[in-house]
Amino acid sequence: MKPPVFDYHDPATVEEALDLLAVHGDDGKVLAGGQSLVPLLNFRLAHPEHLIDVNNIGELSGIKRDGGRLRIGALTRQSMLERSALVADNWPLLTEALSFVAHAQIRNRGTVGGSVAHADPAAELPVAFLASDADFIVKSKRGERRISAVDFFVTHLTTTMEPDELMVAIDVPAPPEGAGYAFTEFARRHGDFALGGAAVLLAAEGRTCTSAAVGLLAAAPTPLRAAGAEEALVGSELSQDGAEAAAKRAVEQIDPTGDIHGSSEYRKGLIEVMVRRAIEKAAGRLDGDGLGFSRNGGGGR
Ligand SMILES: Cc1cc2nc3c(=O)[nH]c(=O)nc-3n(C[C@H](O)[C@H](O)[C@H](O)COP(=O)(O)OP(=O)(O)OC[C@H]3O[C@@H](n4cnc5c(N)ncnc54)[C@H](O)[C@@H]3O)c2cc1C
Repeated sequence: MKPPVFDYHDPATVEEALDLLAVHGDDGKVLAGGQSLVPLLNFRLAHPEHLIDVNNIGELSGIKRDGGRLRIGALTRQSMLERSALVADNWPLLTEALSFVAHAQIRNRGTVGGSVAHADPAAELPVAFLASDADFIVKSKRGERRISAVDFFVTHLTTTMEPDELMVAIDVPAPPEGAGYAFTEFARRHGDFALGGAAVLLAAEGRTCTSAAVGLLAAAPTPLRAAGAEEALVGSELSQDGAEAAAKRAVEQIDPTGDIHGSSEYRKGLIEVMVRRAIEKAAGRLDGDGLGFSRNGGGGR
């Protein structure tokens, strides 16, 4: 359980980190909270020759409202985001997603940018950002890029970031006015990676759904938007039957990988239930009377 030998670098500014990545990016790794990278090193599943530790770069950390949008520094600890009143009041889907992430000790070290850059399809924050139409801001000596969440994830643990790029921030638009939100998942034990889950943001006028974002957790090699479910919801009346139909549409497009924790069919059924519950819960949280749905979902079927 010892990591392979590496050269350790400790930049104090983003510029210094970008200089190091320009030289060592191809055979180096950024070290943020270390909660995913250090186990990979210790199991010898990763063997970078250089580790570029960004923990001393203060400018990479922090949460602020920028116009109507939320800007989260990539090095912001997951626990800081979880405890932010600004986020809980205005981007509550993120707060709810964080309540499922690992354990307090891991969230105290684990960073928001690290979770996104690691790109585990069973990680909650990437799915919540995808459902929120977030952008990821990355920098290199070649300049800055803004990559939308939908274009960011390529496959398991792989993103469109280049080896010389550093994620500096996550930029999240405000949810639609009066939106309802919900994050649901099922894991064998609380804090374990989920076997399936869903992130939902809904807006409505009267009973009619005017916008819907449905993100799927652990459904594919990347976090996924359930386009079929979104199409089924937008323009139709929010109802129990509508939630069931949309959840069915959500799993038509997926073929989750089975493993010792559950077969592909089991996971598909589980994700369908998680999507339906998330839609019901989000509808119950819409501004107004909740359209007859409960704020905690439509009953534990
Ligand atoms: C026991 C355990 C249980 C866990 N359970 C969950 C869970 O239920 N849900 C969940 O979502 N996560 C879970 N995690 C993972 C945890 O959330 C990690 O903190 C997170 O995935 C990675 O964040 P980090 O800051 O620790 O990144 P690190 O481990 O430091 O880095 C991870 C990867 O991202 C890259 N990286 C990090 N920051 C940047 C950056 N700014 N720019 C470019 N690349 C970067 C690194 O090079 C590395 O490849 C668990 C971890 C453990 C140990």
